Amino acid sequence: MSIPLSPSAGQPSMKDYSCTTQCTWCDGCGDYGIWTALKRSLVELKLMPWQVLLCYDVGCHGNMSDKLQGYRFHGLHGRVIPFAAGAKLANPRVPVIAVGGDGASFSEGVGHLVHAVRSNYPMTFILHNNANYGLTLGQASALTWQGQKMNTSPNGIPEHTLPSMDFIFSLEPTFVARAFSGNIPQLTKVLKAAIEHQPHGFAFVDVLQACPTYNKFVTHEYLLEHCKEVPADHDVTDFTKARALATDTGKSIATGILYQNKSIPSFYDRLVPRQGKSTTTVDEVKITDVSSLMERFR
Ligand code: SF4
Repeated sequence: MSIPLSPSAGQPSMKDYSCTTQCTWCDGCGDYGIWTALKRSLVELKLMPWQVLLCYDVGCHGNMSDKLQGYRFHGLHGRVIPFAAGAKLANPRVPVIAVGGDGASFSEGVGHLVHAVRSNYPMTFILHNNANYGLTLGQASALTWQGQKMNTSPNGIPEHTLPSMDFIFSLEPTFVARAFSGNIPQLTKVLKAAIEHQPHGFAFVDVLQACPTYNKFVTHEYLLEHCKEVPADHDVTDFTKARALATDTGKSIATGILYQNKSIPSFYDRLVPRQGKSTTTVDEVKITDVSSLMERFR
């Protein structure tokens, strides 16, 4: 039985998500756009900050964890998905959003991403895709373009670029979208749809963003010129066409909701011990007095 997200508890405003911590991102960083669109999507979905769990990987994007209000978790590099999935499975009524960079998600944490997609965990994953490791001063990631000169590969990187969208589609996802951090209205719309997909499973959102400090090949201007809205007649339920649209980035890059399938049960809905239950494990756990245990370790 699919457990729906908790209903709205009022009408939040952008102010409810604001906090006074100063932003440390470089001027022109795409993180600003994603930060704004994420807050806007939560406000438009009428989710109060205490109704949502935001989980962050390590990276420049991860520094967003103290730049907005709400329940936030900032974990280890490449490990945001296991934590977020565990929290979601314990309490599926809470919308859980995991955020990671291309370095963490397609190298250290790629195994977690593979199993999250194939398991169809009911959560949203936002990829900050700036095609490099920005926080550690611009090393090549698996998504850096082959041949590009990066700080630790001055002769250009020898490996071919991991075809991330083809890879995601090979795992039979149930929701795939792509957006550009510079188009905040479109990104907001995509994030809302990705959060609303949660009762149906794992939503993967690839957000292309500029890193003007270290990425000199995919600039804000390049993305502005190449990112185009998916054709109006695109059928998001057509897996083959969606995969072709997602992977054909030669002349332009299709952005928007690329694929959605609500007919495959989520991981939670396939758990035999949870069948027929309207409660969650969080509802069922009793308060346990651990003081005597604590005494033993004094
Ligand atoms: Fe943004 Fe790049 Fe600066 Fe990191 S290094 S804050 S990703 S512009």
